[in-house]
Amino acid sequence: MTVKQNYERISEQINAAKIRANRNDEVTLIAVTKQVSAEVAKEAIAEGIDQLGENRIEGLKDKQEQIQSEVVWHFIGSLQTRKVKDVIHSIDYLHSLDRLSLAEEIQKRATKTLKCFLQVNVSGEESKHGIKPNEVIEFARQLSEFDKVQVVGLMTMAPFTEDVTIIRNSFKGLKELQEKVRDLHIANIPCSELSMGMSNDFEIAIEEGATFIRIGTDLVGKGR
Ligand SMILES: *Cc1c(COP(=O)(O)O)cnc(C)c1O
Repeated sequence: MTVKQNYERISEQINAAKIRANRNDEVTLIAVTKQVSAEVAKEAIAEGIDQLGENRIEGLKDKQEQIQSEVVWHFIGSLQTRKVKDVIHSIDYLHSLDRLSLAEEIQKRATKTLKCFLQVNVSGEESKHGIKPNEVIEFARQLSEFDKVQVVGLMTMAPFTEDVTIIRNSFKGLKELQEKVRDLHIANIPCSELSMGMSNDFEIAIEEGATFIRIGTDLVGKGR
């Protein structure tokens, strides 16, 4: 399968999921290029994809050096506090804001506001990063002080399971939380977006309200 063929198939799947969910708002596709070369990333760009996601700073810098076209850059990996200064000036979205110390460092280093998703660990799996669901509201309130941080929405990774009901419920849970945070009406926390859905579960995520989906394997493949 070429990136072109993958993109055609995924576009159809996205549209079908939107129709099932009665949606006609925007779903932004992020091509996650963390496992592929800049050459493959360029194939995606040639198809008209202009949103790329990377989870490591080295990968991000490597792609940015080799890709000259206009790209919206998403950082989707966990970020160490001491690395904040190396990455915030070269990305458009951070999907992994999960602790106060990270927000403090962004506030200190940023020269303009950074669009952030709060990463939530909906499933409670030990191996996953993210804020506990019952701590999200309090965390959002604390972030009202940080004018360099704009919380555009919530992000999650579904639990590692084949059980579609469990996956769907975790997306539903994130949506409920997103609406609660949005309804706090905090100036720097519009929280209108939902970053959820990967290769294995993006159709369910769209049905449950995802506005940003992050697809690697099924779109650009891996290991090239
Ligand atoms: C790798 C990754 C993705 C993409 O996963 P695929 O299963 O390859 O589509 C999405 N989100 C995050 C946070 C990732 O680390």
